[in-house]
Amino acid sequence: MIGAGPGDPELLTVKAMRLLQNADVILTDRLVSQEIIRRYACSTAEIIYVGKQCRKGESTPQATINELMVIFAKEGKQVVRLKGGDVSIFSNIVDELETLVQHNIPYEIVPGITAALGAAAYAGIPLTARNHATAVRLLTAYKSDVVPASYWKELAATDDTLVFYMSSETLDEVVGKLVANQISEDKLLAVIEQATTPFQKVYTSSLYEYEKILGNKKFLSPTLIIIGKVVMLHQQFNWFHAQKQHAEYFGSINEAAADTKNSFALTA
Ligand code: SAH
Repeated sequence: MIGAGPGDPELLTVKAMRLLQNADVILTDRLVSQEIIRRYACSTAEIIYVGKQCRKGESTPQATINELMVIFAKEGKQVVRLKGGDVSIFSNIVDELETLVQHNIPYEIVPGITAALGAAAYAGIPLTARNHATAVRLLTAYKSDVVPASYWKELAATDDTLVFYMSSETLDEVVGKLVANQISEDKLLAVIEQATTPFQKVYTSSLYEYEKILGNKKFLSPTLIIIGKVVMLHQQFNWFHAQKQHAEYFGSINEAAADTKNSFALTA
């Protein structure tokens, strides 16, 4: 189990790099830079795209991923399961670990830089900057009922920085709930598209002017939301100069799969 970081292929641990070089089989997610595989996988390694992108209806069933890990491991192969960001943040790691334990397959867990940390660094938004926030919460509102009504009240009141994963589709609702619960006006919103990639874009707005500034915008996947006083630091510490181009860095799993004969992405 290896975390591949948020996008920039250099945001990978030395340990991950070494294990990739020695892998016989790499089962990789959609939100993993193709460049990482191109640079570090051995030319004889079997690369299998097992991405999930529910929104577009292209997805590899979890059972297939589990099965592939077991089949290759039982053949004595060194298998790397490569996941975007960190392996444990908003991922299906538990299913996969349970499968490995059931089959007595030894494993290692190698952490990666999660999107929140990559995006915060590349947008110049220190997540717990002194005098702005004393804690940070990693959240998701990928569908309406994951955050209960009482918790929205708490989220609007806290001084903690809020980071939402998988929530660009429900952003109107996230902003609406926080405004309805009277979030203070000095907390700002940042939407960070394709963080740490050459196509990164950072949009900021007050939560109260969101409709006017970002209301009709369709964001490119993946997108991370940061809310809090720390967002005001972006203007001062924005150091990363991305390309102006509005293009997708992570291909759909179909495109990735088309590059290789080894695809279970659609056939599973
Ligand atoms: N395990 C991953 C998260 C998987 S959930 C991690 O630790 O980062 C997928 C969500 O992560 C996306 O919907 C998006 O909200 C966020 N994400 C992942 N990579 C991102 C990137 N490069 N830029 C912005 N958001 C990203």
